[in-house]
Amino acid sequence: MNMYIQMGTGNGPDERGYFGEFGGRFVPETLIPALDELTLAYHEAMADPAFQERLAFLQRTYTGRPTPITYAARLSEQLGGAQIYLKREDLAHTGAHKINNALGQALLAQRMGKQRIVAETGAGQHGVASATACALLGLECHVYMGNVDIARQQPNVFRMKLLGAEVIPVASGTKTLKDAINEAIRDWVTNVRDTFYLLGSALGPHPYPMMVRDFQSVIGTEARRQIVELAGRLPDTLVACVGGGSNAIGLFHAFRDDTDVAMIGVEAGGRGIESKEHAARFSDPSVGRPGVLHGTRSFVMQDADGQIMGTHSISAGLDYPSVGPEHAWLRQTERAGYTAVTDDEALLALQILSRTEGIIPALESAHAVAEAIRRAPAMPKDSILLVNLSGRGDKDLDTVIKALGDG
Ligand SMILES: *Cc1c(COP(=O)(O)O)cnc(C)c1O
Repeated sequence: MNMYIQMGTGNGPDERGYFGEFGGRFVPETLIPALDELTLAYHEAMADPAFQERLAFLQRTYTGRPTPITYAARLSEQLGGAQIYLKREDLAHTGAHKINNALGQALLAQRMGKQRIVAETGAGQHGVASATACALLGLECHVYMGNVDIARQQPNVFRMKLLGAEVIPVASGTKTLKDAINEAIRDWVTNVRDTFYLLGSALGPHPYPMMVRDFQSVIGTEARRQIVELAGRLPDTLVACVGGGSNAIGLFHAFRDDTDVAMIGVEAGGRGIESKEHAARFSDPSVGRPGVLHGTRSFVMQDADGQIMGTHSISAGLDYPSVGPEHAWLRQTERAGYTAVTDDEALLALQILSRTEGIIPALESAHAVAEAIRRAPAMPKDSILLVNLSGRGDKDLDTVIKALGDG
């Protein structure tokens, strides 16, 4: 058996990159050879024990893996139902799960002999993870970022520069993440011979959704082993927030054949579904419909004419109008369920987790915590709820202070 199959390339996509009717490659002709080259190189790398060993070595000695699972004793006690466990991606180097993917792709770029990396970033978290991996491996890093995001995410802009990356301002469209992705793709089309596009979530044209999932599947592979060690059995329910969907699919993948384990993805409900100011692609059928964005077919928030809609979330990482195609498929096949949590519920969950467990979660992760808080009381006391704590809250302190007043 190939190493990459062990790592979890099973259960799709098919050879054309489809998960059921979702996924595929909706890109300019000029990119097809580059995507073919990438797919081939990826499969070769994952089947090469030397590549696997180097990745595992850096995960252990640089990222700090395995990240632990923490039993949330006081939170579980207070809610009076399910026992809550937290997979601590907040403890990974750079403070979130994004480094898992950035490191994997950067190693692949190096193996392919591509010295120039382009990446996109919204809030700057993927930009920082990419700049970090590039610094580690001595690769050149160019990060596209919308002007609006640059203005509101200064600390991450400065971090990227310290790490030796070039931050390229994007002035088109809404000057946010989706425009940054457009520019990064444009750069890749132009410079495809020596350039590697390091994409930040389980999105984009095939093979990205599969590749990002596999690099993130270390989360679930570890968690599955750890929860059995710690609690003596598999969890009843997994909960993870879903922006593009990489931390969620990274947790879910190792449990895909454990049909007794329920999987719940949590979208950004923003100011409420009725307000239309949200990023709930699945939870608001009046705007979330199948469509194509950034090279892949999935659920996309669009108006009656198919124009991409503006989104809102208090957490920048969940504020995206589409979602990874594998999630659209998991939902359609009813292997996973999806729900939404509002800004206010996430803010409250952030405070509750901080006070009960001494852990300040990222606002994204607080959406998953909020769903756990909602669900746990109705579950039996001997049931297990495993929450993916995708990142730490330090980056969100400004937002939280503004939202809570002086609190
Ligand atoms: C970016 C980010 C997310 C959302 O991205 P996914 O690809 O859906 O995982 C979630 N949590 C944190 C901490 C992030 O930085």
